[in-house]
Amino acid sequence: MLERIEELERIARELEPELDVRRDTRQKVGEYSDDFIERIYDIPAYHITEDKGIGLLDSPISEDGIGIDEAIGLIRDHVDRPGLNPASHGHLGYIPGGGIYNASLGDYLADITNRYAGVFYASPGAVRMENMLIRWMGELIGWSGDFSGNLASGGSIANLIAIVTARDAQGLTSKDFHKGVIYTSTQQHHCLDKSFKIAGLADCVIRHIELDEKYRMKPEALAEAIEKDKADGLVPWLVIASAGTTDVGAIDPMNELGTIAHEHGLWFHVDAAYGGFFILCEKGPELLNGIELADSCVMDPHKGLFLPYGLGVVLVKNTEQLRLSHEFHANYMQDTMGSDDELSPATLSPELTKHYRGLRLWLPLKLHGVAPFRACLEEKLLLTKYFRNELLKDPKWEVGPEPDLSVTYFRYLPENCDANEFNEKLVKAIKADGRVFLSSTSLGDQFVIRLAVLAFRTHKHTIDLTLQIMNEKVAELTVEA
Ligand SMILES: *Cc1c(COP(=O)(O)O)cnc(C)c1O
Repeated sequence: MLERIEELERIARELEPELDVRRDTRQKVGEYSDDFIERIYDIPAYHITEDKGIGLLDSPISEDGIGIDEAIGLIRDHVDRPGLNPASHGHLGYIPGGGIYNASLGDYLADITNRYAGVFYASPGAVRMENMLIRWMGELIGWSGDFSGNLASGGSIANLIAIVTARDAQGLTSKDFHKGVIYTSTQQHHCLDKSFKIAGLADCVIRHIELDEKYRMKPEALAEAIEKDKADGLVPWLVIASAGTTDVGAIDPMNELGTIAHEHGLWFHVDAAYGGFFILCEKGPELLNGIELADSCVMDPHKGLFLPYGLGVVLVKNTEQLRLSHEFHANYMQDTMGSDDELSPATLSPELTKHYRGLRLWLPLKLHGVAPFRACLEEKLLLTKYFRNELLKDPKWEVGPEPDLSVTYFRYLPENCDANEFNEKLVKAIKADGRVFLSSTSLGDQFVIRLAVLAFRTHKHTIDLTLQIMNEKVAELTVEA
């Protein structure tokens, strides 16, 4: 047996490469990353390929390892080439993501030390860091006192945590679900519909409140609906507002909606996954007026703070309620109890063992300070206005209303053909070109193209390039037609 143990140890030790091997591997990874960043303004934002990365499957997982050069080659050819490049300055579709460098180093450190950030007892420093970040974000939206939250993997999970907490806080149990009423907008993010389903709430009545011309919920329509539902014996319990809808960046009138919700004893949830961090801008507090009324709020640092994917935050004003919805005990956890200065993520979320996500946010905030984040967000608001103003100069472009945030929409009005068909072709042609990436949506029966400015690498030259590409493609399509 001893011989076998020794033999196994020899093989197992490959999992701990020697210093020079580690350095060599890290250097190659570093070179690839540096090269990627150095070329980022030259590589496409979107790359349509025949193979769609299928070549990756020619190198199956097997007993024996390959060298780092070969591994990087596989990533380069089959992963980082086809499809959307979210790190690109030209990513102007959906809600763009980020990828700031220092966040990657935060992840690197978190992965090396592998602190157990789920439980205070195991890593008091890591839990303090995560809670400190949560407090910072809550204070940004005007909260004080004893609130808490969770660093989740993204906005969808963060919204789910909020919805479950709201459900329990409102004392709703399965026998009431069919009578429960949720008030929201047709423009809410579809992850909320998903969360209703997952939280067992699919049988609730979902009321889509009438919208104004800028796709914002009308407060008087909400008040009327709640009163009518109460009179009809239903159980209104949740109002959901968006602070920056995905489609058009609309901000619901949170002050009014929150006040109405609270007057009637309803939970007020704000999905600020996209728009929340614009609170850092000069006009932010005015734009997001009323966000402080939220009982729960979601903000995505992997959107608004330009982090790489993997961090969405839920904030909940009533810490006790968040805990009641998520805390469980088990015998094998008995040593972790007691004398905690800070609440643990494991008692406030569905996760137990979790990625130490705090470091990927803390490190860039500490190294840069907040000022460059603020500037980058402010720049994005102005770039969106600049883009829209340029389009307004040519009446052939029909442009949506002045945007509050960094999403605007538009369509080209062709002379002799159907506008919907033309704009669908136009967005396809822009994607095929690939230098920039725009996505489309439907508003009523109109096919419109969106511009969403939130990639941190998007600066004025990207907007000029986008305008140039749009006009080029219109000219090409007009000749064809
Ligand atoms: C992106 C987004 C979400 C979903 O967040 P993920 O991080 O993609 O899971 C929810 N709501 C809004 C308004 C969003 O923009």
